[in-house]
Amino acid sequence: MLCAFCQESDLLCRACQASVEKGTISRVQLALFREVTRLRKTLPRFRRVQINRVFEYPEALVLVCSPSSMHLLVGRGGKQVQELSKKIGKPVHLVPETNDRDQLLTTLVRPGTVEQVSMLYTKGSQQLRVRVSRKPLLLKSVTIKKIAKQVMGLDIELVRS
Ligand SMILES: [Zn+2]
Repeated sequence: MLCAFCQESDLLCRACQASVEKGTISRVQLALFREVTRLRKTLPRFRRVQINRVFEYPEALVLVCSPSSMHLLVGRGGKQVQELSKKIGKPVHLVPETNDRDQLLTTLVRPGTVEQVSMLYTKGSQQLRVRVSRKPLLLKSVTIKKIAKQVMGLDIELVRS
């Protein structure tokens, strides 16, 4: 991820430049931060947007952001996030940095919906079984599992009803 300085500037520091060259920070991620910087300059409310982590998957760029940033990034009727996706050439999926399990799961499976959550106990470990609507999800199951683990340390299993 770009350092705080580079997120705010049009130039890249030496460390971030090296990360871009190595591919640790992709062109898509760079385009995202450039666009967010541009929005911060033009829309005062965007200065409150805080993106904590960025994960790139084949199907989408996942932004883990502060819960209060969610509505700013989504925009009215989802317009902002759609524009952002178009600008960087990849779907953007927003996830709040949260300790609220239901909030996290609900946003991860969008545009599907969570129908039921149950706890499975196996030898010394716990796993959440999350039943989701049949609607196609934007993120792949494997991606949803990884992010649930990264953000809240949850082990989940997704089941389609
Ligand atoms: Zn930097």
